[in-house]
Amino acid sequence: MSFNTYDTCDEERFCPHCGQKLESWIGPPETMWGLILVCNNNSCSYFLNSGETVESYGGHPNLSFRYAEDPENNFECFNLLSYCPDELKNKEPEGGCNCG
Ligand SMILES: [Zn+2]
Repeated sequence: MSFNTYDTCDEERFCPHCGQKLESWIGPPETMWGLILVCNNNSCSYFLNSGETVESYGGHPNLSFRYAEDPENNFECFNLLSYCPDELKNKEPEGGCNCG
């Protein structure tokens, strides 16, 4: 795996659930994700409906899944688990959802 070859993604990808353009985001180093594309729309149906899914996993009520794609894996979609305390839910993942 090499994720130091680029730090932006020219490909335009859109969320199939809300139509918003996916934003490139560098995952925390410990995740080994490198660059991923994320739907940051807090009104996205996928994001809003994911709470129940997370809870069914026994998760925290403030954990949600965002729609994300992995450009290094043929844009395979996956669930980006993001921890969003209520007071941070309107912020960008870089500033608000530090999963640490
Ligand atoms: Zn979306």
